Amino acid sequence: MSEFLYNRILIKLSGEILLRDNTSGETPLDRFVNEVKELQDLSVEVAIVIGAGNVIRGLHAEEQGIDRYTADYIGMIATLINALFLKDILTKNGVKASVMSSLEVKDVCPSFSKEGALRVMGGGKILILAGGTGNPYFTTDTAAALRAIEINAEILLKATKVDGVYTSDPVTDPEAKKFNQLTYEEVIKRNLKVMDLTAISLCRENHLPIVVCNMDKPGNIKKILKGERVGTLIKG
Ligand code: UDP
Repeated sequence: MSEFLYNRILIKLSGEILLRDNTSGETPLDRFVNEVKELQDLSVEVAIVIGAGNVIRGLHAEEQGIDRYTADYIGMIATLINALFLKDILTKNGVKASVMSSLEVKDVCPSFSKEGALRVMGGGKILILAGGTGNPYFTTDTAAALRAIEINAEILLKATKVDGVYTSDPVTDPEAKKFNQLTYEEVIKRNLKVMDLTAISLCRENHLPIVVCNMDKPGNIKKILKGERVGTLIKG
């Protein structure tokens, strides 16, 4: 019997995890890689959806004079670049990983399919999902919710810089209070900036629990998999 409550998980990472600051030493990405390595050693099936906020976000592109449709494709292609980069880092650290894409790039990696995804994860590899949903006007949060449901992940872990969902931005508001648990309805009604509405609605309709937390904090992912209270849990 597994020591974990959840044995197949999907982690949503923002592309911002790949941004490097000038400080030397261990980066959030290094810490995340260590966490994933441990999960692989413990035979947890892990899929990762990576975003591209380090490159472009379609929603803000028009302000920069780029047409939204084009910007969204730039964003999706950027997730592919990020995914290849992440795979390389994982591999260099002894973590076996494969990339699948929602956009067809058959010289680079296979296209996403449920069967292929389950085969990769069942074979003990970390699965990195690139290309978002493959459609403009969506986000990689929605891609994460969609793919998590498709591959029957038991939980969706949304990595954030802070350790959960707050009443307001804790970076700028010292009065901000953290929620330990929320329902999907509360997230929607309070307009909490957790994930976009499409992603939350998909999770609600398919009863997929979400944990929002800081994934690069050592041990956090394992604690969540054991059912311990970390970050903010969102469920029905
Ligand atoms: N994107 C898209 N369709 C998708 C996923 C992503 O068009 O299914 C585009 C969209 O412009 C988005 C960008 O890719 O803003 C980068 O993704 P996201 O903003 O989710 O990245 P993150 O904030 O997670 O780094």
